[in-house]
Amino acid sequence: ANKLVTVKNVSKTFAVNKGLFGKKKFVHAVNDVSFDIFAGETFSLVGESGCGKSTTGRLINHLVSPDSGEIIFDGKNISNIKEKEMRSLRSEIQMIFQDPYGSLNPRMKIQDLIGEPLLVHTKMSSRERLKKVHELLEVVGLSPLHGERYPHEFSGGQRQRIGIARALTVRPKLIIADEPVSALDVSIQAQVLNLMQDLQKEYDLTYLFISHDLSVVEMISDRIAVMYLGTIVEIATKDNLYDHPTHPYTRALLSAVPIPDPEQKQKRIVIKGDIPSPTNLPSGCLFRTRCPYATDKCKNEKPEYIEIEKGHFVRCHYAREMEEKFNV
Ligand code: SF4
Ligand code: MG
Repeated sequence: ANKLVTVKNVSKTFAVNKGLFGKKKFVHAVNDVSFDIFAGETFSLVGESGCGKSTTGRLINHLVSPDSGEIIFDGKNISNIKEKEMRSLRSEIQMIFQDPYGSLNPRMKIQDLIGEPLLVHTKMSSRERLKKVHELLEVVGLSPLHGERYPHEFSGGQRQRIGIARALTVRPKLIIADEPVSALDVSIQAQVLNLMQDLQKEYDLTYLFISHDLSVVEMISDRIAVMYLGTIVEIATKDNLYDHPTHPYTRALLSAVPIPDPEQKQKRIVIKGDIPSPTNLPSGCLFRTRCPYATDKCKNEKPEYIEIEKGHFVRCHYAREMEEKFNV
């Protein structure tokens, strides 16, 4: 398959001011992150809040620029692209967010909200725009009559449909969905995820799906990257990740998810302690302060990725030993 996005050794640090007399500190939000997203797939970033997944999405959408590393979108290096050049790419990457009410202006009619990107990115007449908006309302399972209403008149699930319609107006290649169903009831989540999957086929969409919720990610992903403290610790196809989770952090995350399988043979890992501050990263392996298997080597050397099976990468010195320990 074609690579739509390549992220190569990308890091991003933000300066935070510690008050009037404190020393300036740096938050290491994204640390040496690399992955590809193939055209037509759903690639997910999963991890706990603050692990750098949203920042990674913002880097790809060029809302922030990387300190180092490269981001290639559709064959074009956008790492340090000028805003003017980026403007023409803006319509090709669209975002949907967790709280569509928060991201939708409450004083705008739905039809104006959905039609806004068309106003910005195309030369359509207002009549053409309205026609397009009505079409899209139907595509996402709403009625054209809804166009005259305001965001607060809709349920959370409907508002997410509106957010999706808005993202679709300009026929993007990539949609970055940052916790798109996290605010919704489980039954509504499934409906929105199903809609996203249907639209993916119909509109040849590629998704970067960002979520803290492993059960949601399992429903929608083709491939998954697990993030911890701004780095990716494991990348695999969905099946490989859920059947053979290998990085100790991935295993800990997954073992916290209740799995309705009485014959479940996965050993439970409970990790101790808190996530270290991203202003003060551990040496060596970023997970070592909480890893039950850490050694001196983990303290002294940063692990690289080991490909334990085709396309399954684990950032751990002992990836092969872990595989043997867990996956027999
Ligand atoms: Fe644990 Fe060491 Fe592997 Fe890091 S490299 S996950 S500390 S065993
Ligand atoms: Mg986030």
